[in-house]
Amino acid sequence: MESTQSPGAEGPPAAPPAAATPDDPPGARFLAGRTALVTGAASGIGRACAVALAEAGAAVYVVDIAADAAKEVAAEIGGTCCVTDLADPAAVDALPDDADIVVNNAGLQHIAPVHEFPPERFALIQRVMVEAPFRILRRTLPHMYAGGWGRVVNISSVHGLRASPYKSAYVVAKHALEGLSKTVALEAAPHGVTSNCINPGYVRTPLVEDQIATQAVAHGIPEADVVTRVMLERTAIKRLIEPVEVAAAALWFCSPHTGYITGASLPLDGGWTAH
Ligand code: NAD
Repeated sequence: MESTQSPGAEGPPAAPPAAATPDDPPGARFLAGRTALVTGAASGIGRACAVALAEAGAAVYVVDIAADAAKEVAAEIGGTCCVTDLADPAAVDALPDDADIVVNNAGLQHIAPVHEFPPERFALIQRVMVEAPFRILRRTLPHMYAGGWGRVVNISSVHGLRASPYKSAYVVAKHALEGLSKTVALEAAPHGVTSNCINPGYVRTPLVEDQIATQAVAHGIPEADVVTRVMLERTAIKRLIEPVEVAAAALWFCSPHTGYITGASLPLDGGWTAH
């Protein structure tokens, strides 16, 4: 996670977004001509967002530290691979600055009570999940302002709205991302740029699968019980969400009739925050 790799884009977007074909449903490629930058796009929710945006016609920068997986996603969608460690500020500042759409998605988790939480792990999580989104936006917003159109989609979490035990760094980072999103919404509104958060509950991705063993230890319960007794305990809908369902919401924020929605946080949490 903390290894450094070559930052920046490997060349310009491979191919311009394809024009609509007669087989496309009306409006299907509504992002043709737009450029999107998606962080953490090699896996899980980020990968699903990159695929959805590309299918809608956007040229996508696939940003991730996982080089092989990022290259695979970029090849699959005709995007541009940017192998970047988002914990490295210089690498983040070398990313392309010409995106019309930014999806701040990359994230990581560490589970431990506050009194045992490693400070260096806390700092790493803030760098990747708060400082990197800030650095990306401070460099891409001028391009969006110049074009009079832009969409910022921040993949927050229910943990941007609620806390859970043992996740201090993650809860702090997601609450900070909510603040960044709302501040950008206010500053960017006169320029045709919106900024919103999506707040999923537990999504079926490697990040969640990796948590099952550590949550079992932290809560002192068998691994088999973690999904039902911990993860789904507070949701009314008793299943995990799929990454494509989160990507559909991200795409919707970029669609033609959502320009009045800004500074919002959209829970995709199966009723968790209805409590
Ligand atoms: P994931 O582990 O499948 O993917 C995260 C991606 O981020 C990986 O490809 C990883 O390589 C990348 N990444 C991590 N650290 C990086 C770094 N330093 N530099 C560059 N890339 C880095 O996780 P996911 O579940 O798809 O999570 C994506 C986002 O969604 C995260 O912000 C997470 O907090 C949020 N989220 C996830 C869930 C869930 O239940 N899975 C719920 C709510 C919110």
